[in-house]
Amino acid sequence: MVGAFAPRSREGNPGRRDNIASHQNTTTFNEGDWDRSNPLPAYLTGKNYSLLSLAQREKKIAFDSRCLDADAVRVVERLVKNGHTAYFVGGCVRDLLLGRKPKDFDIATTARPRQVKKLFRNCWIIGRRFKLAHVNFGTKTVEVSTFRAFLPETFDTDREDLLIRRDNLFGTPEQDACRRDFTINGLFYDLGRGVIIDNVAGLQDIEDRIIRTVGDPEVRLPEDPVRILRAIKFASRIDFKIEPATYEAMVRFAPDISRCAAPRVLEEILRILRGGAARQAFQYFWDTDVLQVLLPEVDDRLRTEPDLLPRYHVLLENLDHMVARGLRPSPALCLASLFLPVAEGPEIISGKPHKAWEQASAGLNAMMESFCPRLNVPRRDAGRLRDIIALQKRLRPSSSRRRYTRASLTRHPSFGDALEIFRAYCQAFGDWGEELERWDEAWATHKSTADSADGKEDKKNQRRGSSGGQKKRGSRNRRRRRGPKASSTPKNT
Ligand code: ATP
Ligand code: MG
Repeated sequence: MVGAFAPRSREGNPGRRDNIASHQNTTTFNEGDWDRSNPLPAYLTGKNYSLLSLAQREKKIAFDSRCLDADAVRVVERLVKNGHTAYFVGGCVRDLLLGRKPKDFDIATTARPRQVKKLFRNCWIIGRRFKLAHVNFGTKTVEVSTFRAFLPETFDTDREDLLIRRDNLFGTPEQDACRRDFTINGLFYDLGRGVIIDNVAGLQDIEDRIIRTVGDPEVRLPEDPVRILRAIKFASRIDFKIEPATYEAMVRFAPDISRCAAPRVLEEILRILRGGAARQAFQYFWDTDVLQVLLPEVDDRLRTEPDLLPRYHVLLENLDHMVARGLRPSPALCLASLFLPVAEGPEIISGKPHKAWEQASAGLNAMMESFCPRLNVPRRDAGRLRDIIALQKRLRPSSSRRRYTRASLTRHPSFGDALEIFRAYCQAFGDWGEELERWDEAWATHKSTADSADGKEDKKNQRRGSSGGQKKRGSRNRRRRRGPKASSTPKNT
């Protein structure tokens, strides 16, 4: 296991390269393909990165309507009916082509955010630097973005600071495709005609299973370094290889991730950990030096104490198994899986627990004091993360008498998460099997008691409802109009 984490050089020469694609794109840009009134920015034409054949390429593909989201289809149809161009775009097109169920459906359109809002009552405009319309259907959100133009500064790739800070210029579908992060995410699906529109040679990359930035990665990654995390997310989740130039740029610009807005970085980390391939993604974090940027304390410890690595593998595979079972690990559980092996250290593992737990708690506090403010971790998640780690001590068998009953511990709000980790350790290392059985029993009892209490409460509410007892109409009981989702962070800088 440890061997997979080969030492890497600080000069950006990755330790493991079998996840990097072995060939360069050979498609070349033909200037005649492009409307001259819309000049191309340098990142699309520079040195070896004349990747695009901008002659619009179309491929007839009729996706089974059952694979499409009915609400998203209605949004496209209403936009088109009102005279706008509207296409499905990005991850949903990529996933449909791969035969995977899209996580969400995004739409790109000629309609401006305010025009979209006028067409849908359930629509909210979000974002400041990059305005988007969110059309909400219950808990589901269909994201509608207006086609974006090249930014004036993207023509000057020699400028010192490539980070994009504002982004509200609207443009053509072709320009919009070139603004997207990876070629596999730059495809449009025209629902009415049943065709894929490919301006960025994304279809070929999907066929070859390659992740490649649209244009020069040395420009596109520093422009928005969150894309480095996104490349890792896709490479591990859909098991694509990363094109060599894109990979080199990921390693080179990894330190720039610290310049991005903290909520965006945290959101991508959580998406990665909950995406079903956390173990593979962690390997990329290590290989590309991204781990040193995100969690320098963890990276440093792993370098000096590689014995901790098997613990990481167990905890990250545990997250992947939970996702495979249809569960959604909580943010606290995801983050605890990143901290626990380093927090507890080898002393605990080798069985001299008590003093070591005290040191562990001090070490954890120090790490969290640096990590939580840096990535803006919500206070509630940080508290639960600490609890999950602290509960491990109580879950493990101990020679001293317990000062709490099993039933009381199962009532702790983080008990379920803590038990997931304890179970993963027990199963992987064959320790504490009897203790696990006892905790599982206590947990099952707690859940059935909680379920029957919920059932009684439901019946009581039903009776109240059926007896015609109307609630008082007051400001507290009136339903509030649902606003935009609090968790939404705009996709670009
Ligand atoms: P997922 O399956 O995780 O939703 P996705 O590719 O759909 O993957 P989203 O975050 O939903 O990712 O973004 C939708 C689309 O918006 C992407 O496919 C891509 O075209 C574009 N996009 C998102 N983030 C960026 C970015 N940082 N830079 C450029 N384009 C982006
Ligand atoms: Mg998406």
